Amino acid sequence: MGIHSYDVAVIGTGPGGEGAAMLAVKYGKHVAVVERHRIGGSCTHWGTIPSKALRHATQRLDECNRTQPPGRRERPSFPVLLRDAESVISKQTAMRTEFYERNEVDVHIGEARFSDAHSLSVTATDGAVSELHADKVVIATGSRPYHPEDVDFSHPRVLDSDTILSLDHTPRSITIYGAGVIGCEYASIFRLMGLRVNLIDTRSQLLAFLDDEIVHALSYHLRDQGVMIRHGEEYGSVSADDEGVTVHLVSGKRICSEVLLWANGRTGNSQALALENIGLEPNHRGQLQVNENYQTAVEHIYAVGDIVGHPSLASAAYDQGRFAAAHLVQGYCDHRLVEHVPTGIYTSPEISSVGPTERELTERKIPYEVGYAFFKSLARAQITGNRVGMLKLLFHRDTLEILAIHCFGDQASEIVHIGQAIMSQPGESNSLEYFVNTTFNYPTMAEAYRVAALNGLNRLPK
Ligand SMILES: Cc1cc2nc3c(=O)[nH]c(=O)nc-3n(C[C@H](O)[C@H](O)[C@H](O)COP(=O)(O)OP(=O)(O)OC[C@H]3O[C@@H](n4cnc5c(N)ncnc54)[C@H](O)[C@@H]3O)c2cc1C
Repeated sequence: MGIHSYDVAVIGTGPGGEGAAMLAVKYGKHVAVVERHRIGGSCTHWGTIPSKALRHATQRLDECNRTQPPGRRERPSFPVLLRDAESVISKQTAMRTEFYERNEVDVHIGEARFSDAHSLSVTATDGAVSELHADKVVIATGSRPYHPEDVDFSHPRVLDSDTILSLDHTPRSITIYGAGVIGCEYASIFRLMGLRVNLIDTRSQLLAFLDDEIVHALSYHLRDQGVMIRHGEEYGSVSADDEGVTVHLVSGKRICSEVLLWANGRTGNSQALALENIGLEPNHRGQLQVNENYQTAVEHIYAVGDIVGHPSLASAAYDQGRFAAAHLVQGYCDHRLVEHVPTGIYTSPEISSVGPTERELTERKIPYEVGYAFFKSLARAQITGNRVGMLKLLFHRDTLEILAIHCFGDQASEIVHIGQAIMSQPGESNSLEYFVNTTFNYPTMAEAYRVAALNGLNRLPK
C-alpha cells in the first residue's frame, strides 16, 4: 500500500474541488485531489456541460428548422444531438486534467474514505488501496439524483438526469417529474426536439424562488410551445413495461409516455466517505453543514459545492472552493463571496436574475420602483429575431441604488452580468443613473439597461 503526505487533500474534481485545489497550490501548498470517476466532476460529465451543449444543439436546430418549409425540417436523433455534447465534454476533461498536471497537483483516481481526521484511504477500480495523509481536507464530492425507493430506476424507461444521457433513441413522448431548474430545462430541450412533454410540478408554481412576472412568462412560453404542465401533483406510484411508463398521480390521474425523467431532488455524495470515522453526520439529504468559512464541525475539514446544499450551482461551487482554500491556508479570507449569487436558467426562453424578487422587497418594506425594457422594442432583438424577453430593474426610489435585476429572453444569462457589475459597486457608485449617463454600443442587448433605467425614472415623481 502506497502512503502519500500532503498539506491539502481535496476529494472530488468538480468545480468545487478544482477551485480549492488550484488556489491552495497557488499558495505554495503540496496538494492532492482524489476522484473516483473522471476529472471534471458531475458538472462536466452529467450536469452543466452536457445539458447546456444539448440545449445549444437543439436551439440551433430549432432556429434552422423555423426557416424551412414543413417536410424539409431536420430531425436528428437524440444520440446525434448528444454527440456535440460529447465533444465539449472531452475538450473540458482534457483541459481540466492539464490544469492539475501543469500545477503539479497529484491526481489519485479512486474512491476516498476517511480512516481518521487526517487520513484517507483511496480504493482504485482494480482494488488497489493507497493511503493519503493531509493537514487539511476539502470535501467537494457533489451530489447525485435523488432516487425514491419505490421507483424502479433499473427499468430502461425510468431515467434520471445522469442516465438520460445514455438514451440511445429519440422517444416520441416524455414525462418529467419535478419542475425545478433541471426539470424545466429538460422540458425545453425535449419540446424543441418535437417530443410530447408532460411536466409534473409538485408545487403550485414553477421555480417559485424567481420573480413572479418571470415565472409567469416562463409558464406562458412553455405552454405556448406545447409543454403540458400540471401543478400541485404528487406521484402515488410509477409502473413501466415494454409499451411505456405510467406515473399514477395521487389525484387519480395517470400520465403515460415512452420514458420518464425523474428530476425531483438531489442527494449529497457523502455515503462513501465513512464520515462516522471522523464524527461528522450528514443530514437526511446527505449534505454537510458548514460555517461561514466552509469549515465542517471538524475544523480542518472543509466542505464546498453541492455537498453543502444551496445554491447547488457550478458557478458558486468554484467560488466556494477558492474561498475555502484561502481560508484553510491563511486562517482568514480576503475574497468576498458574491453577496447575491446570480441564477442562470437555460430554458427557452432563458432566465437570469440577481438579487431579491419584488415579493421579497415588498415583504421587507423596501420602497423600490421598477424599470422595464421589452426585447421586442430593441433594435438588436428585432434584427436577430429573438424578440421574446424582458429586462426588469428593481431600484430604490430614494437613492436609485439597483437592488435586483430580473431578465428573460435570448442571452439573459449574459445580459444580467452588466447590471450585476454596477449593482456590486460600493455606495453611490451603484446607481441607476449609470445606465442613463453611459453610452452603449448600438444596436446591442445592453441597450435594454438604458431603456429600463429611463422607464423606471419616468415612474418617479418629478
Ligand atoms: C442536469 C444539470 C444541469 C445543471 N446545470 C447547471 C448550470 O447551468 N449552471 C450551474 O452553475 N450549475 C448547473 N448544475 C449544477 C452543477 O452541475 C453542480 O452545482 C456542480 O457540479 C457542483 O459541483 P461540485 O464540485 O460540488 O460537485 P460535482 O461536479 O458533482 O463533482 C463531485 C466529484 O466528486 C467525485 N466524488 C464523489 N464522491 C467521491 C469519493 N468518495 N471519492 C472520490 N471522488 C468522489 C465525483 O465522482 C465527482 O466527480 C446542473 C446540474 C445538473 C444535474
